[in-house]
Amino acid sequence: MPVLAIPDEYAALTDALRDFVDREARPLEEAHAQELQETGHITGAVELRRGLRKKSAAAGFYQLFMPEEVGGGGIGYLGMALAYEAVAATGSYLAGGGGLLPNVEGPTPVLLDCNPEQRARYLDPTMRAERESAFALTEPEAGSDATKIKTRAVRNGDTFVVNGRKHFITHGAYADYVLLFAVTDPEKGAQGGITCFLVDTDTPGFTVARKQQTMYDDHQAELVFEDMAVPESQILGREGYGFYSAMKWINGGRIQIAAAAVGIADMLLAKMTEYAKQREAFGKPIGKNQYVQGHIVDSLVELEQARYLTYVAADTIDNGGDGRMWAAKAKYVASEMVGRVADRAIQVYGGNGYMTEMGIERHARMVRAMRLYEGTSEILKTNIAKGLGL
Ligand SMILES: Cc1cc2nc3c(=O)[nH]c(=O)nc-3n(C[C@H](O)[C@H](O)[C@H](O)COP(=O)(O)OP(=O)(O)OC[C@H]3O[C@@H](n4cnc5c(N)ncnc54)[C@H](O)[C@@H]3O)c2cc1C
Repeated sequence: MPVLAIPDEYAALTDALRDFVDREARPLEEAHAQELQETGHITGAVELRRGLRKKSAAAGFYQLFMPEEVGGGGIGYLGMALAYEAVAATGSYLAGGGGLLPNVEGPTPVLLDCNPEQRARYLDPTMRAERESAFALTEPEAGSDATKIKTRAVRNGDTFVVNGRKHFITHGAYADYVLLFAVTDPEKGAQGGITCFLVDTDTPGFTVARKQQTMYDDHQAELVFEDMAVPESQILGREGYGFYSAMKWINGGRIQIAAAAVGIADMLLAKMTEYAKQREAFGKPIGKNQYVQGHIVDSLVELEQARYLTYVAADTIDNGGDGRMWAAKAKYVASEMVGRVADRAIQVYGGNGYMTEMGIERHARMVRAMRLYEGTSEILKTNIAKGLGL
């Protein structure tokens, strides 16, 4: 018996998203099937996803979660969670990572702080997938404690001169503009001293220092700013209150990750269950062995716990509740869960699970990062503990 009543229109939406994946993403993947099978990647994926995003925006999917007043679909947090889960559960390499629904490159409610002129230059084209963004907060010496960033923006008349360095910035090497967080008043720190600027990546003084290779791909980048002049008209929201703008999206971002983790786990669970029925050892399907059943059943029940937590987090916010603790719990539980499920999937597939050609191990590498970004598991536990008054 489901805890929540899922509105019928969401079933139609998730069907439409799956159709989009089958129609638009699968043929591209099939054309690169050998490379994907051998390496776990597709050369040119950045461009292919860009093309998919434009089609998704034209179909009204890409901007689904944004409010109707700015041309979005206004579907709310539960609709968003179901949509991200459905797309992740397809296992599609290209539709994931911002191919169908936005990742960091796309529209988020942080951009709702745009004034009318900024809206025309940044928000509107991002909604149409014509311009792409990146979120530049983390620095080599300021990760979990982002209030300690050092990138400095010094006012000179109606212009700011920016110097500093960011790293691990997803899509940083491909974006048209970044949401850049810089210190404008060192005395005030995060309480009125950090400002968010909209910075075009072709601004003189902006350099992509290097792409950073991770255990999954090279989609993160180090960005350097040297005497970069940014007019004050590029401030997003209020000067000094950049952190407050960013925090508007913290719950949404965490719920998106939790939902994607649930979708990926769902897909891996289906695959390992099917494999356990087909693969034989010692004269019977491996799924007849209790140890193998344990991997599958533990994955199923942990997945269901994470799924309901994610839906409750989303539903709480849709109903006007304070979602901070729920979103932290959902992201913590789901991102840890999907790591265990991906590892069990490799175990159930045996040596085949470790080989790239089965398409299992790449998910295990990819989901590992979910425990790191948008709040590490440790930071989320710290937040939850604070919520308990500890
Ligand atoms: C794939 C990927 C994509 C990313 N994309 C972006 C992006 O687009 N934009 C962006 O700005 N950033 C991005 N990041 C950066 C990400 O937000 C940081 O990696 C994260 O906040 C952790 O910071 P850190 O890596 O500096 O770790 P640190 O802060 O150095 O932490 C190291 C370890 O110490 C633990 N720790 C730290 N403080 C505490 C504490 N108080 N209590 C308990 N444990 C603690 C952490 O949990 C972690 O285990 C990305 C990171 C990754 C891996």
